[in-house]
Formats: sequence, C-alpha cells, structure tokens
Amino acid sequence: MSKRVAVLTSGGDAPGMNACLRAIIIGCQRQGFKLIGYKHGFNGLINQEFIPLSLESTHNLIQYGGTILQSARCEAFKTPEGAKTAAVNLANVGIDTLIVIGGDGSFRGANHLSQYWDGQIIGIPGTIDNDIAGTDATIGYYTAIDTAMSSIDKVRDTADAFERLFLVEVMGRNAGFLALNAALSSAADYVIVPEFFDNDKNEISRIVKQINGQRALKGEVSFIIVVAENVWPNGLTGLASALNKHGIKDVRPVTLGHVQRGGSPVAQDRLLASSLGNHAVNLVGQAQTNIMVGELNHRVVSVPLSDTWRKQKPLNDTRVAAMKTQMNERY
Ligand code: ADP
Repeated sequence: MSKRVAVLTSGGDAPGMNACLRAIIIGCQRQGFKLIGYKHGFNGLINQEFIPLSLESTHNLIQYGGTILQSARCEAFKTPEGAKTAAVNLANVGIDTLIVIGGDGSFRGANHLSQYWDGQIIGIPGTIDNDIAGTDATIGYYTAIDTAMSSIDKVRDTADAFERLFLVEVMGRNAGFLALNAALSSAADYVIVPEFFDNDKNEISRIVKQINGQRALKGEVSFIIVVAENVWPNGLTGLASALNKHGIKDVRPVTLGHVQRGGSPVAQDRLLASSLGNHAVNLVGQAQTNIMVGELNHRVVSVPLSDTWRKQKPLNDTRVAAMKTQMNERY
C-alpha cells in the first residue's frame, strides 16, 4: 500500500541537508510514496505548515547549502501539549512515517513525539558538530571542516606577514571534532577541545611553553590557536587576557561563526546525504522505528535514537595522535 511520508529539517542547519532532501524526494517518487515537507523544523508540525515535495523541487538541489524547508528551534515542542498537537496534526494528514534530519536535540524531540504518535520515526544525522553517536560522520561536518580549514589558511597568511598570534574560534558546542580536524588540516600550532581541556591554568601554561619554545627557536613567528567554542572561560577574550598576563601581547581573536554552517556541500557530505536519505526511504513501512540511520565503516546502519545522545562518541585516536605530534614538532 502506498505510504505517506513527511520530512523536516530541525536545529542548526548544515550543508548537505538539501542533498538529503533530494535523495528522499527521489526515493519516495520511485517507490510511489506521497511526500510532504514540514517547514521550520518542529514548528511546522505544530502549525500545520507543510508543502508537497515533488521531483521538480530537486533541480540543482544537491549543491545548495542551507535547507529549502528552513530549519528552526521550537520551544513549544518540548512540552507535552506541543508534541500532542503535532501528533494530532500528523494523524489528520495521514502520515505513516516521519523523517527528521537534524542533530541530537532534534532526535530528542523526535523521541518525545513518539510518546504521543505511533507512526514510524526515522532520524538522519545533520549537524556540522559531528557529535552524534552511531555514525562516523554527520551531514555537513565535512563541509564545515573545509570552510574552517580554508579560513585558517587565510588567517595564517596575515599572521605570517605580521608575526602575530591569532586565536580562531570554531563551532562545536560540546565536542571537538570540528576544532581538531580544522586544526590538523590547516597545520595550526595548537588546539583547545573540550575532550582534553582540564582547566584554564594548566592549559595556559602548556600554551605559553609552546609559544615561548617556538619563539626561542625561530624568533618572532606567527602562532595559531584553534579553540572550540564554549571551552575557555569567557571565550576568546578570556584567553587573550590570560595570554597577556603571561607577557604574550598582540593577540588577535577571530570568531569564524556562522560561515561554518554555510556554503555548497563538499562531495563527502553530498555522498553521505544521498546514501542516508535513500536508505531512510528504503526503511519506510518496515517494523523499525525510533531509529537513526548512520554510516559506520562505510556501511549503512540503524541505531536506536536514544543511543545517539546517550552514548559518547570519542574523537578519532589517530587524528588526536597526529595533532599532538603537530603541536610538538616545532621545537
Ligand atoms: P540540534 O538538533 O541541532 O541539536 P537543538 O538542540 O536546538 O538542535 O534541538 C532542535 C529542536 O529539537 C528544539 O528546538 C526542540 O524543538 C527539539 N528538542 C530538543 N530537545 C528536546 C527535548 N528534550 N524534548 C523535546 N524536544 C526537544
């Protein structure tokens, strides 16, 4: 029997969400499923704001950043009333399967909905943070590394020209994936990530030792520290003033901010998005529900939604080791 499928994008937007929507639209068309897209994340479910998604919507879609369904946060959805309204609305439209593309917050939201709605729920990981267990990577993560890396390359040009110290803040909330990989791929001199941050006093003495070691060897040189957001007390201002107190002046802070979320998705994000979107449609109508589809060791997998935020995803050991070597190689 033909199924009715709905999809939404929620939480922080990520490059490749459109590529994933494209795969879902094409998959549903091939299988003869009806597909609608809710707008503005869970707000669309509450406000009954949806649009039909057909093959015409897919033209050039794979290469656009952002999401044609728009994304949003929705406080009302966290309440029982919000989720109940959404459940009634889904039942009224006759939806069998809801696909949620988003981060761990969106998956908590999807899980919350499952208490009030007995349709099938499938999550697809879309966030630049890569902080979701059960998948090696999330849609948008690779593009964000690329954006941060090329921004740091540019910072280095001016840092070298003036022999300055730059602090570059990258996104990542509670996880250092983006900071570590951006730092490694741009040959940054130091990285600060939540996974290895014990306290600011210990960290500052390590940084100062590193800078002074390098300067003793090479004279005044540029130095780039990549910092994951929300790690240093008082952010880049706090770190700059701590360095000042240790006699390290002329420190320039750069916050990369929302540019990291934008841009055309790189090939790896398009490929991940296309595979996961297609696989999610293949699961429509099957018994599995409240699951996320992800990719582990190049194979598509399904994991319970609750695993995605309860389980801790560690940084990749070999990347950490390479960064440690990079941080120590200069003196
Ligand atoms: P992300 O999906 O990128 O992690 P958020 O953490 O902002 O983004 O979550 C997106 C939305 O998911 C929230 O605005 C809210 O509507 C919903 N959500 C998050 N956590 C919960 C929760 N515990 N219960 C219900 N809904 C939630």
